[in-house]
Amino acid sequence: MLNNLTAHEAHSLLASKKISSVELTEAVFAQIEKTENKLKAYVTLTKDEALKRAKAADNNGNFTGLAGIPIAIKDNMCTKGILTTCSSKILANYLPPYDATIVEKLAAAGAAPIGKTNLDEFAMGSSTENSGFHTTHNPWDLNTVPGGSSGGSAAAVASGECILALGSDTGGSIRQPASFCGVVGLKPTYGRVSRYGLVAFASSLDQIGPLAKDVTDSAWLMNVLAGYDPKDSTSVDIPVPDYRMALVNDVKKFRIGLISDLMGKGTDEAVKAAIKDAARKLESLGAIVEEVSLPTFEYAVPTYYLIAPAEASSNLARFDGVKFGHRSSDAPDLLTMYYNTRREGFGAEVKRRIMLGTYALSAGYYDAYYLKALKVRTLIKQDFEKAFKHFDVLISPTAPSPAFKIGEKAADPLSMYLSDIATIPVNLAGLPAISLPCGFSGGLPIGLQIIGEAFAEEKLLQVAYTYEQNTEWHKRRPTL
Ligand code: GLN
Repeated sequence: MLNNLTAHEAHSLLASKKISSVELTEAVFAQIEKTENKLKAYVTLTKDEALKRAKAADNNGNFTGLAGIPIAIKDNMCTKGILTTCSSKILANYLPPYDATIVEKLAAAGAAPIGKTNLDEFAMGSSTENSGFHTTHNPWDLNTVPGGSSGGSAAAVASGECILALGSDTGGSIRQPASFCGVVGLKPTYGRVSRYGLVAFASSLDQIGPLAKDVTDSAWLMNVLAGYDPKDSTSVDIPVPDYRMALVNDVKKFRIGLISDLMGKGTDEAVKAAIKDAARKLESLGAIVEEVSLPTFEYAVPTYYLIAPAEASSNLARFDGVKFGHRSSDAPDLLTMYYNTRREGFGAEVKRRIMLGTYALSAGYYDAYYLKALKVRTLIKQDFEKAFKHFDVLISPTAPSPAFKIGEKAADPLSMYLSDIATIPVNLAGLPAISLPCGFSGGLPIGLQIIGEAFAEEKLLQVAYTYEQNTEWHKRRPTL
């Protein structure tokens, strides 16, 4: 079935005129028709618009790169005139007046956006259970979560409800859902991809990146996404390589550090076994694998839960019922209007983060919490710098367990927060990392995380590609 193709496979068929973009797009929507009532991966579908783009790509006939490829967009990225809700009631009716830079780039590449995917409200969560609308289900087991916050995008890719998707990653939101759904997720270096038009959660951490069926597709999508954007002052003006050139099946002499701190208690035995197997596999392919300890990882989750909520409390101040989205009808005066709008519009987790962040930034607590967290962040960064003196890349589990059951952690925010222990340090240090399938436990996928130095996406892709070419995990698809 066409919807199960990777983007690069679909590209060959499009370029040789064996299929049309309209056929491909229709196959994706046929799958959506079949499985979306079980998965609930999307918030908004834009079939007419997608078919229009597909027709334009067919008429143009020049199929380079991602031209004519149906792609899903996480619903925290602005799409002009198309609902952009962040899966929040406060933005349930929000129609942006402009496109995010990455949406413009996709259009320029001729890709066909097919809809907006579900997420934890404002990207705060690890399961999509915090969505203000509905929970997305994991295509490998409908009783489990797809991960989060980009759970809709990951579930859509895994189930063939799109060919490729975009996610955003503040503390793991691309990699952890990729791990839970058995797909490939890449968080680029901070500054590599423009966030203009990404609704901000924690601005010193947020990055946009690809969710794909394999490593090759991730490289192809990176070619479209990466690059300097004067509209995002944090984007970095350095040349963008052709990431496809990094798809080389060779890790000989690569020095790989296995992060021992993420292989102890707290990580499932099945996950540890799969990661050890992956390390041995890389060794058998010529890499040199050694254990390495990054002792400050222990402090990463508490550090993140001061910095991210602090930034969120400031970023989310703009949703006050005046300029964007929902406004309470119970608004006898301005202050009550603010109160009621935010009370009605935000869900429990978003409120919790705003309160945590406001507290951490308050006069009197600022030095004790926020400033302390910034200092620990520097120590975490230094731990990575030390490790990269000896290693080309670092590896670890992406998550301490496979996908958990819907409802299992919903009432216990702390245990939910801890499921990001392996991904959060990477955001705090601004580094790139990829997650790719490396095994299964009880029918659920396990993800291998590969971490690199800033702007070393090519190294990640090369190691990931080599692993993928020499294993079969990425070929498994869920049956729905
Ligand atoms: N799960 C983490 C959180 O809840 C990370 C989310 C993200 O990366 N957007 O904040």
